[in-house]
Amino acid sequence: MTIQPHELDLLQRVETGIGVGGTWVPSSSGATFTVEDPATGDTIKTIADATVDDAIRALDSAVAAQQEWAETPSRLRSDILRRAFDLLMERKEDFALLIALEMGKPIAEARGEVVYGGEFLRWFSEEAVRIHGDYRQNPEGTGSITVSHLPVGPCYFITPWNFPLAMATRKIAPALAAGCTAVIKPAELTPLTTIYLVQLLEEAGLPPGVVNVVPTSNPSAQSSALLVDPRLRKLSFTGSTAVGVKLLEAAAPNVLRTSMELGGNAPFLVFEDADLDRAVEGVMVAKFRNIGQACTAANRILVHDSVADEFARRVSEKVAMMKIGRGAEEGNDIGAMVDRKALAKTASLVADALRTGAVIVAGGQVVPGPGNFFQPTVIDKVGPDARLVGEEIFGPVLAITRFSSESEAVQSANDTEYGLVSYVYTENVGRSQRMIEKLETGMMGLNTGLVSNAAAPFGGIKQSGIGREGGFEGIREYLSTKYTLTPR
Ligand code: NAD
Repeated sequence: MTIQPHELDLLQRVETGIGVGGTWVPSSSGATFTVEDPATGDTIKTIADATVDDAIRALDSAVAAQQEWAETPSRLRSDILRRAFDLLMERKEDFALLIALEMGKPIAEARGEVVYGGEFLRWFSEEAVRIHGDYRQNPEGTGSITVSHLPVGPCYFITPWNFPLAMATRKIAPALAAGCTAVIKPAELTPLTTIYLVQLLEEAGLPPGVVNVVPTSNPSAQSSALLVDPRLRKLSFTGSTAVGVKLLEAAAPNVLRTSMELGGNAPFLVFEDADLDRAVEGVMVAKFRNIGQACTAANRILVHDSVADEFARRVSEKVAMMKIGRGAEEGNDIGAMVDRKALAKTASLVADALRTGAVIVAGGQVVPGPGNFFQPTVIDKVGPDARLVGEEIFGPVLAITRFSSESEAVQSANDTEYGLVSYVYTENVGRSQRMIEKLETGMMGLNTGLVSNAAAPFGGIKQSGIGREGGFEGIREYLSTKYTLTPR
């Protein structure tokens, strides 16, 4: 399947340059890199490869724009975000197609990402005008305490490839609402959606230099240079825990404020008193959304012995009906994985699980051909030392482990260095409450397989990260607290 005329037309509307100070320029070295369609391996676009100098110029622009943007009335900042939301909804189809083309997810899911990503623009346009401090009495009666919240300053954003739009708006929208400027580095596999988003923000009236975009094929050189620049005031990163740790180290000398949205290893618990229809429906979303390539993806499906056979049978029936194919085309349920490396890792995890006595109930194979397709897979009776259990799978493999008691389920669920999200299926109110208290995760889906919501504080504990995105908590990541004492 080669690229279609309407796809080409859209790709031609995406800038090829680096977005600095409101203009689009080539790399200072003249270097470029290519973006591929993971379903075919075809190059779909060649774009400028930002050098370290380009990134420093982008930070210069963000620093130059900072004061004026912070002093822009919040109503105006709010209006720009709202206009961006309206424009994004008008262009929903374009953005969905671009996401599907460069990242590979099915177009229906890409439309879902546009709506989800757009919600951050709308939510934070509403939050922009609600930044407030407080006034406190001094208990000694000698004066007053005033607490204000001020923009942190220029920010650096590093985003992953799996949700190229939503991971960008989840950072850009609260930063703009708070009065911060930014430099954003999208993932090198999926830079086009972010570039197109910055074009849209400019059209919505964002002043030049407030958001700058610097795609690069050498992220570590760029981040090393920016993180030691004393003008930078904040790093917000979404990606793997391994890279997050390196960035925390690099940010330490500057004592830089950081938000870290890192990896996950979500347990999905199905108790003997669960509504099995709901649990099956929930696991299909929690596991196969985004071809399993989500930080919130259900990683370990822990099912009570008494319902495990029935659960495995029902999910396998659903999986057998899933249609594999190019995300950019309508009607497919499972698109291509993002690259050959991801495909090979998924295959090796499946092979390793068989070593532990696991049984493949559905799928289990790489689909031959040029695209990076892996069959949606169900594996039952996975042993506790399988890599599928200990590692973030990040692929369409549903791995079932069985348990016989609530305490065993809780112990297994918490037996990981990650703590992003857990899913619990039970009809028992007391047990629900116990799970809220006992499961060590920043988020929980109770009888639901989808927790992402712009109005909620998204984020993890343990090695899944620091900070929250979304909700009223999301804007606080971009505000610093100042207390002023005024004597009588
Ligand atoms: P990744 O860590 O490999 O890359 C993420 C970003 O970091 C990319 O932009 C990449 O270019 C950049 N990067 C890589 N090495 C770097 C370095 N040395 N210095 C600076 N930047 C560097 O992760 P990925 O493969 O793009 O994304 C998948 C990971 O992201 C998974 O672990 C997933 O769980 C996590 N994720 C977390 C959330 C969340 O909200 N917690 C959301 C989405 C994805």
